[in-house]
Amino acid sequence: MSKKYDVVVIGAGPAGYIAAIRAAQNGFKVACIDEWQNRDGKYAFGGTCLNAGCIPSKALLESSELYHRATHEFKKHGITTGDVGIDIAGMQKRRAGIVRQLTGGIAGLFKANKVEGLVGHGKLLANKQVEFTQANGDVEVLTAEHIILASGSTPIELPFARFDGEYIVDSWDALEFDAVPPRLGVIGAGVIGLELGSVWSRLGSEVTILEAMGDFLFMADRDVAKVAAKDFKQQGLDVRLGAKLTSATVADGVVRVEYDDAQGAQTAEFDKLVVAVGRRPHTEGLFSEDSGIVTDERGFIEVDDECRTPVKDVYAIGDCVRGPMLAHKGSEEGVMAADLIAGEVAEVNYNVIPSVIYTAPEIAWVGKTEAEVTSSGRPYKTGSFPFAASGRAKAMEQTSGMVKVISAADDDEILGVHIVGPMAGELIGEAVLAMEFAASTEDIQRTIHAHPSLSEAVHEAALAADKRALNYMNK
Ligand code: FAD
Ligand code: NAD
Repeated sequence: MSKKYDVVVIGAGPAGYIAAIRAAQNGFKVACIDEWQNRDGKYAFGGTCLNAGCIPSKALLESSELYHRATHEFKKHGITTGDVGIDIAGMQKRRAGIVRQLTGGIAGLFKANKVEGLVGHGKLLANKQVEFTQANGDVEVLTAEHIILASGSTPIELPFARFDGEYIVDSWDALEFDAVPPRLGVIGAGVIGLELGSVWSRLGSEVTILEAMGDFLFMADRDVAKVAAKDFKQQGLDVRLGAKLTSATVADGVVRVEYDDAQGAQTAEFDKLVVAVGRRPHTEGLFSEDSGIVTDERGFIEVDDECRTPVKDVYAIGDCVRGPMLAHKGSEEGVMAADLIAGEVAEVNYNVIPSVIYTAPEIAWVGKTEAEVTSSGRPYKTGSFPFAASGRAKAMEQTSGMVKVISAADDDEILGVHIVGPMAGELIGEAVLAMEFAASTEDIQRTIHAHPSLSEAVHEAALAADKRALNYMNK
């Protein structure tokens, strides 16, 4: 007799584990299957985000930023120190400890919510059956009224720069280096390239980032990208644009890369090379041919706006489906799927998903860039406020950057908010909430912001959109 569930979720990353918990909260009998195994051989829930992505990268960004500030900024505050050193083993121990605590926390949440967490491989078969293969090879078939696929993504591997786990590595390996590589090459100046490039550069690596596109941070607002490019250059990150990698080979412990740029064929040598050129949906062995699941030409599982696959009662969420590969996007899709299964009204507002890059300065945005608004043809106005004019930012000695608000000229609706500067990832929350409620610029203008706080920069940028900034000259 096969075990029966109301809902089976395959994948316990931020999309799947959240879907499982919400489905259990909705009163269903739920199982969540996951096969993630860490480098120490231990299985863990949490997927890429908790084990090899969002959380460990933020742990290292914090450690390396503190080290950088201690060595570069303390003096300005009048703080004197002895020699400041960095103990990489200690830093990595802290990172691993945070990951262990948080992934263990999911197991605890499963227990508290009565979700059955199953360790092993899940495969969707026809007729709402799921083949579950345990780590020891035992196989059983589960049946479910509803199934949610949340299998996530894996790094894209370039055929001419294969990962070897030691010299040419993916982002996971680059989070677990046990020493600072003297010369670090990074392919791709995307989110991972900039975050990991920043970590190792602050710890002493000479970092070179090769980016195929001619524009820096092409997905961000141009004003924000300009500030970020200047700051990263000052920090010593050597970002080479229009640089297309053509080969990477290892000899005598050195990675030699060849790339083409506007000047022609170039070469460079590194001690380690991180390839961070995007991620692809991970669907190997996830469904049988007769399951009815369809993938598009890039391998994403096809779903509608409500994450329904063409197979009745089978949903797919997170990185394995279209849309930005972000943990919070996957989690919200998980909530939506679980609530739809319960017959509730649920939706994800795909127009209001924040993006954050956790560099220093941080970069965060929500909604449309100015270029996107321009091409939409809608008349608009913009307002900016620099952190250089913020009392709080000055006190923090972090005055680089600004807040930019883009609003409709006709009805004052906020269309996009772009921030580069201290705590941008926290400040963007106000803009996300405002846009979720279709707020106007005037709504932010009339909202009281604490003084002195970084959030006053959001207030002033909204005022500046109507040339009414109070603490800065209106342009
Ligand atoms: P995943 O987290 O990939 O989880 C999928 C899970 O399913 C995995 O555990 C996998 O083992 C399991 N699985 C797959 N197939 C099967 C199967 N057949 N049977 C059983 N189990 C299976 N996003 C942010 O929003 N903020 C960040 O700061 C951020 N930082 C990142 C930093 C790095 C270095 C990386 C690589 C990514 C980062 N991301 C960040 C992206 C984020 O990690 C992903 O968007 C998110 O993890 C996607 O969640 P998911 O649940 O869809 O997939
Ligand atoms: P990405 O898409 O952000 O950036 C990849 C970059 O590599 C692009 O700029 C692309 O032009 C460049 N590129 C592609 N092929 C190249 C080549 N042959 N030579 C040189 N450059 C090349 O992808 P990523 O940085 O790998 O991140 C993967 C995903 O993980 C992203 O979708 C991102 O959303 C997510 N992520 C998010 C966060 C965050 O939210 N803070 C952090 C890390 C990762």
